[in-house]
Amino acid sequence: MGILIQDVSKRFGSFQAVDQVNLEVKSGSLVALLGPSGSGKSTLLRLISGLETPDVGRILITGEDATDRSVQDRNIGFVFQHYALFKHLTVRQNIAFGLEIRKAKTTRVRQRVEELLDLVQLSGMGDRYPSQLSGGQRQRVALARALAVEPKVLLLDEPFGALDAKVRKDLRVWLRRLHDEVHVTTVFVTHDQEEAMEVSDEIVVMNKGKVEQVGTPAEIYDHPASAFVMSFIGPVN
Ligand code: ADP
Ligand code: MG
Repeated sequence: MGILIQDVSKRFGSFQAVDQVNLEVKSGSLVALLGPSGSGKSTLLRLISGLETPDVGRILITGEDATDRSVQDRNIGFVFQHYALFKHLTVRQNIAFGLEIRKAKTTRVRQRVEELLDLVQLSGMGDRYPSQLSGGQRQRVALARALAVEPKVLLLDEPFGALDAKVRKDLRVWLRRLHDEVHVTTVFVTHDQEEAMEVSDEIVVMNKGKVEQVGTPAEIYDHPASAFVMSFIGPVN
């Protein structure tokens, strides 16, 4: 059981940011929310995380109704475009942060941090400070930090959006490999159709707060359900 979104809507003033969304994210899958700027992707992600509360509808995470639960109780890992690492802490300390506030045993924390450094291919960089890393390396630390507490769900909001094209491409491939190893249910926001096509098991195309189409990259590409999807997906080179 992954994530179930049932008839969820959210408005800001008179603006309907998310409009009657129904969606299932299968357990262990990597799903991209794809759409133009302002289509409600980040709002939907924030609704899943509990950072926003729906006006109507319910959100179930691994079968349990999470609608009225706090962010902390949802057991979610987060990475944003500008995910500020703690500047005064080393890579190792950044990754350990969530474990330490949960009062994990020191030996366990050490072991887990080394596993995660290995997983995000930053072994040997544990003693560096964020300022001594590249942008791509920082986002990998942010991912390791999010995964440290073994979340049920990982939410990524344009995690590579601030990086240059070459690094973005490398990280896409890397994220796919990481997901194949870790299998945590992941929702990934992007406005980049090529990124969505390359990384995800399923794509959710959003437009004006609504879900236009859900399908595998091949289904969406070969059988766009609307003129909007067709124009937004366009030819991928
Ligand atoms: P996307 O991530 O697809 O670009 P968002 O979900 O961030 O879209 O936002 C959709 C629209 O909702 C935005 O253009 C903005 O006008 C509005 N919006 C989002 N969050 C808020 C907020 N906290 N207060 C007021 N309006 C908001
Ligand atoms: Mg956004």
